[in-house]
Amino acid sequence: MEVNPDELYHRTLRVWGKEPQMLQVIEEMSELTKEILKNVNRKKDNIKELIEETADVEIMLGQLKVCYDIEKQVESYKADKLKTIQQRLDDWEKKK
Ligand SMILES: [Mg+2]
Repeated sequence: MEVNPDELYHRTLRVWGKEPQMLQVIEEMSELTKEILKNVNRKKDNIKELIEETADVEIMLGQLKVCYDIEKQVESYKADKLKTIQQRLDDWEKKK
């Protein structure tokens, strides 16, 4: 069965509600935070958990963008930000 993520995100917000889904964004981000900390601070081998929590956060960020109708603005800001990061890296590496 083919899944259309955008349609699914609209459906989650319609069926489960915007507020619960936005709280779920926070919950999933905190789960990913926890796994990153375990990996970096405690040197835990938790790649499976990192994969799962990263996917969870990406799915929830998809819903957040649909919820606030900001998909295009995020895409545009992200493109600009990536150029800025690239420029900073170029400058940084030139200094060395
Ligand atoms: Mg999770």
